[in-house]
Amino acid sequence: MNADAVKMLQGRYCNSLTQYSRFVTREVFIGDVPMGGNNPIRIQSMTTTDTMDTLGTVEQSIRMVDAGCEYVRITAPSIKEANNLAEIKKQLRQRGYNVPLVADIHFTPNAAEVAARIVEKVRVNPGNYADKKKFDQIDYTDAQYRGELERIFQKFTPLVKICKEYGTAMRIGTNHGSLSDRIMSRYGDTPQGMVESAMEFMRMCETLGYYNLVVSMKSSNPQVMVQAYRLLVQTMVAEGMNYPLHLGVTEAGDGEDGRIKSAVGIGTLLEDGLGDTVRVSLTEEPEAEAPVAIALVERYAIRSQKFKVESQKPELTTHHSQHSPYEYKKRDTYEANAFIGGHMVPRVVVDISRANLKDPATLNAAGYLYSPLLDKYNMAEQSVDFVYLGDSLPSFTLPGNLKQLYNYATWQKLANKTLCHPVFTLQEYIADDANRTSALNLVRVTNADLDSDAFGLLQMDKSLVFVLETNELHGMADQRAFFLKLEEFALDVPVIVKRSYTFPDHGPSTMDHGQSELKTQNLQLYAGTDLGALLVDGFGDGVWIDAPQVETNVITSTAFGILQATRSRISKTEYISCPSCGRTLFDLMITTQMIRSRTSHLKGLKIGIMGCIVNGPGEMADADYGYVGSGTDKVTLYRGKEAVKKNINSANALDELIGIIQSDGNWIEPA
Ligand code: SF4
Repeated sequence: MNADAVKMLQGRYCNSLTQYSRFVTREVFIGDVPMGGNNPIRIQSMTTTDTMDTLGTVEQSIRMVDAGCEYVRITAPSIKEANNLAEIKKQLRQRGYNVPLVADIHFTPNAAEVAARIVEKVRVNPGNYADKKKFDQIDYTDAQYRGELERIFQKFTPLVKICKEYGTAMRIGTNHGSLSDRIMSRYGDTPQGMVESAMEFMRMCETLGYYNLVVSMKSSNPQVMVQAYRLLVQTMVAEGMNYPLHLGVTEAGDGEDGRIKSAVGIGTLLEDGLGDTVRVSLTEEPEAEAPVAIALVERYAIRSQKFKVESQKPELTTHHSQHSPYEYKKRDTYEANAFIGGHMVPRVVVDISRANLKDPATLNAAGYLYSPLLDKYNMAEQSVDFVYLGDSLPSFTLPGNLKQLYNYATWQKLANKTLCHPVFTLQEYIADDANRTSALNLVRVTNADLDSDAFGLLQMDKSLVFVLETNELHGMADQRAFFLKLEEFALDVPVIVKRSYTFPDHGPSTMDHGQSELKTQNLQLYAGTDLGALLVDGFGDGVWIDAPQVETNVITSTAFGILQATRSRISKTEYISCPSCGRTLFDLMITTQMIRSRTSHLKGLKIGIMGCIVNGPGEMADADYGYVGSGTDKVTLYRGKEAVKKNINSANALDELIGIIQSDGNWIEPA
C-alpha cells in the first residue's frame, strides 16, 4: 500500500460512509481465480462430506461449483485427509472442474504442511494453529508474551515457506469463539482480541516475505463480526497492509434466521465497501449457500457501476462522526408517548392498508391471533407495535393494545382516535400545527429534507417521531447520513427507519411458488442488510418494511428477525448451529430441526448445536446451552462453556438438554 493511500485512510475503516466506494485491497492469487484488487467479489463455500469419501466430496464440490462457488473449501483434520485432497483434486480436474481448492485446518500444522503442497489455498485458525485451548486465564508478562510469539513463529514458519515455494495462498481465519487462551487473557473475548490474533500471524508472514494472504474475522454475533472487520481494516491500514477480506457470519443457522443473520453481518460490511469474498454459512446443503451469497453481492456490482458515473455528493467519513463504528451504542433519543425511543426496544410497523380489512383474521399475520369462537385476540411472540392503515378503515375492532397509524387527512376525520396516530408529510406537519395530537405525531422525511427550508420550520416537541424514507440506490448510506446529521444538529428525535422493496417478476405467473420464495429470500437479505446495517450501529427506534409483493406474515417475521440478529430486540430462541463439515458427527439439519421443534418457545435462550467436539465448544461463543457431537451417536451437553453431561447417547440427548434447562429454571411449557 503506498504512503498516500495510507495517509488518506488513516483512522478510518472505509472510504466513505455516504457513497458506495469499494475498499481496494491487494490482489491475491488463488489458482487461476484471483481475489482482491478490482476482481469481482468471489463466492465460496465448504463441503460437508467426509474428506476420505473422495467420490462424495468430488460430487458435492461439483454441485457447489454449478451453484456458483468460485472456491471450494474442504476440511483436513489430519494428514490422512490432507493427502486425500490430491485425489479429490485429480478427479475434479479429470471432470473438467478447475475450481481452486482450500484446505481447512484446525490444530494440525502437519496436515497444513501436506495440504499446502496440494491445494491452492490453506485456511489456518490463528486461535488454534499453535495454541491449545483450555479456557485458562494466564497473566503473561510482556517478556513471556514475546516468548510465546517466538514459539508460534517457529511452528508457523515451515507452512509459510511451503506456501511461498508452491505459490499457495493462505487465509488467516480468526473466529470469535476460538481465540487462544493467550489472546483471551490479554484482550478478552473482544473484536480487538480477534484483530490482534490475526495481525500477529500476518506480521509473521510479512517478516518471512510472504504476502499471498486473505483474512477473516468471523463470529456468530453479527455485531461483533462487523466491529471486528472494521477494526481490522483500520489496524491494517495503520500498518500499511491491505489484504483481501473474506466475509462470513459463523454458525448462522438455517432458513430465515440464517439468511437474516448473514445479511446483517455480511451485508453491513458490503455496504461499507468492504469484502473481497463471501461465504454464507447455513445449516443446509452447501449448494444452498452460494445463491444466498450471490444475492447479497450482486447488489454492489450494479452500485459500483452507477457510482462511477454519477454522485459527487460531499461525503462524510468516520472523521466527521462522533459515533464509533467499533462499539455498539444506541443513539440517544427521547421517549415519545412513553412508547417509542429512549430505552424502549425498537418498534415494528407493518402495512395492512392493502389487506382485507373486513376480516379480523387479517391481523394473524401481524402477530395478533384472532379466535372467532371467543371473539378475542391472543398475542403471538412476534406481535407488531403499529399497523399502518393509510386511508383505509377496518370494519372490525382492533386489539386494545395495538396502535394504528393513518394518513393525516384520514386520521383527522376519525370519530374515535384512541390508539390512532397520524402520519404527516413534512409539509402537512408544518402547515397545520393546530390539529396535531399531543400523543404521537409521525412525520415522513428523507435525508434530503434535512437541508430544506421546510425542515428549518419544523417545531420540535416530544410527540414528534420521524419516519425516515429513501429512494437512493445506496439507501443505507443515505439514511446513515441522516442519522449523522441529526447527531451533528444535536436532535434527539426518535426515528423509525422505513425501506420499500419491489421485486421483478420472472416468468408467467406472479403466484408461482418459486418466485414467491425468491422474493421472500431477497426481502430477508435486502432488509437484513439495509436495516441491519443501521441497527448494529445503534441507529433506529423502529423499523418499517414495505413490500407489497410479499406476505405480511413474512414481513413481520423478517422485521423481528432483523431486530433479533442485531440483538436490539429479542423475541425468540436463538440457534447457533454450525454449517457442518467433514468433521460432523450427526445430521446437523435434522438435529437442528428436532431441537427447534421442542425449544422454539424459549424466548431469549441461545442454544448452540455443533457437529464436533474439536471446534464446537469454542465456536458456540456466547450460547447459553450447547449440544455438541462428541463421537458416533454420542453427544456432550454444555451449560455455557462447561460440559455438564459428557458422551451421552444421542437418542436421549435432547431430553437431557431439556432437563438441564428445566433444572436451571429456564424452562417454560409451550403454549
Ligand atoms: S463445529 Fe461444525 S463446522 Fe465447525 S469443525 Fe466442527 S463440525 Fe465442522
